[in-house]
Order: sequence, then C-alpha cells, then structure tokens
Amino acid sequence: MKERIIGKYEGEEEGPLFICFGAMHGNEPAGVEAIDLVLKMLEVEPITNPGFTFKGRFLGLIGNFEAYQRKVRFINKDLNRSLDKDYVDSILSKDKKSLESEDKEMYELITLIREEIEDCKPERLVFLDLHTTSSYGGIFSLCYEEKESLDIAFAMHAPVVVGFTEGIKGTTMHYFNSNNFQENTISLSFESGQHEEQLSVNRAISAIINCLKEIGSIDAGHVENFHEEILIKYSKSLPKLTTLLIRHPITPEDNFEMYPGFRNFQKIKKGDLLARDKSGPIKAQEDGLLLMPLYQKKGEDGFFIVKEIETV
Ligand SMILES: [Zn+2]
Repeated sequence: MKERIIGKYEGEEEGPLFICFGAMHGNEPAGVEAIDLVLKMLEVEPITNPGFTFKGRFLGLIGNFEAYQRKVRFINKDLNRSLDKDYVDSILSKDKKSLESEDKEMYELITLIREEIEDCKPERLVFLDLHTTSSYGGIFSLCYEEKESLDIAFAMHAPVVVGFTEGIKGTTMHYFNSNNFQENTISLSFESGQHEEQLSVNRAISAIINCLKEIGSIDAGHVENFHEEILIKYSKSLPKLTTLLIRHPITPEDNFEMYPGFRNFQKIKKGDLLARDKSGPIKAQEDGLLLMPLYQKKGEDGFFIVKEIETV
C-alpha cells in the first residue's frame, strides 16, 4: 500500500460514513489487507449481483502510515495512545512541516477525516479500528457499553469486551466519538488474531462485512461472507460479553516477561503466576479470563484480565 487511503467505496444512496482503520499500529498489516479485499469485493458485487446497492460511503485508511511502511508498531510513540483531544487540537494548530512521526500521522489522519465528513455530511458516522495481537486467539470486539455499539459489536460474532477505555487514554475509541465529532458517532475496535496469521485477515474481512450489514450500508443477503463461520465457531465456547477487571501496565524499564504458553481467554485464578519483571514474579490479581498476554517487545500493557457479565 503506497498511500494512506487504502480505498473508498461510495453508494448511490444516502447512508452512514463508515471509516475503517488498519495499521493504527504499523506492525499489524492484517487490517489493511482486509480493508483492501473488502473494497475489491464491493467493486465486483454489482457485476454478479445486479440488485446490489450500497448506502453511504466506506473509507479505508492506514492509521500509522510511516510505521506501517517500516513494519514497526510505532516510530516515537503509540499513535493509539496519543489521540487525546487537547493534544490533537494542539497538533492541528501547528504547521504540518514542523511535525514528525506520530504527530505528523495524527495531523494528516484527522485532517483527512474532517475533510471527508465535510464533503459527505453523513447522518451517521461509524469508526472501526482493526488490530491484531502478539499472542494467538485474541479475537474480540471492543466497544462502549451502550446499545447501538453493542448491537454492532455482537453482529461481528466475536466476544465483546467493554470497559477497555477506562484506565488508558488516547485510543481511537476515546477520540472518535460524539464529543469530538457529530451526534450519532460510534467507534469500535476489532482484534482479529495474531499479527502474522492469514486467518487474521479473513476474520477482519468478516467483521467489516458484518459491520456494514449491521449499520445498513449493505443488505443482509448481499456480499457473501465466506469467513463468518470461523468467527461463529471460534466464539461458541467463549463468553459473549466481558468487562475489563485488570490492566497490568508496564514500562520498558520493568523488564516485563510474560511466562510462555498463555492464551487469550484462558481461565485464570487469583494468585496464578503469569509473568515476572525486575521486582519478581507477577501473580493474577483476580479470578477471570486472561486477555492479550504480551509476547512482543513494544507495548504498554503486560496483560489484561476480564470477567464475564450479563448481556444487556
Ligand atoms: Zn494494535
């Protein structure tokens, strides 16, 4: 991919503006590939399916373009922890030429999105941010605990985790919402598996298609979702809705090291040995399910613990 805009698809009918991000972390190319492939599927759909209509507009964007090209998570700082409103505003007020790395990324990304909204004036704005993880089996949606968001998240057929935005700052979900954009703005994230797995691309494709169906951009019977079954099968034995209990933040000086073999959604008991750092062993602080155990060098979170809750 040679530019930030992966592609765009516009329907003839009015509808939402759907903005999908890949590679907000540069070392996570699966989302970019999935967006590109869904856009290609949309291009050919009218040929084989004359009744196909698309409502609104779909814009696919690379989040951290420079990091994506260099195949690293980020250059100077995590873009997906830097999208704090005041900070973004301060960056936007600067001369673009004076900016570098993530500040420049932020400037370009937000400017582009604002122009798109201005051009399209959508009645509804939906953001989907695609990610992958360093460990296997990390397939889930993140959203706010409100009906409209949960409906979209459940439609993506993966376990849904709420409460994730508490305790951290500056993620896409913190920034792309009704406070900073228009009324009726919804923001979700989707984790589609391990960074290098081909299946992570397939799962992300399925998530995008189901999202487009749920928000009404495409009708339920159109655009065949070949990969939906993988997600339905995968999430069968997992809780439908969980909430964040523990985030274990780390710094590079901690020398954090996750013990090998942990998987996403693995059941753990309070006191189980999970990792170690320079101060010694780290035990699970609560009973629950382990999420995103860190098996890569760069990252600000060692692991998360979530617990199942009732669906609303
Ligand atoms: Zn990520």
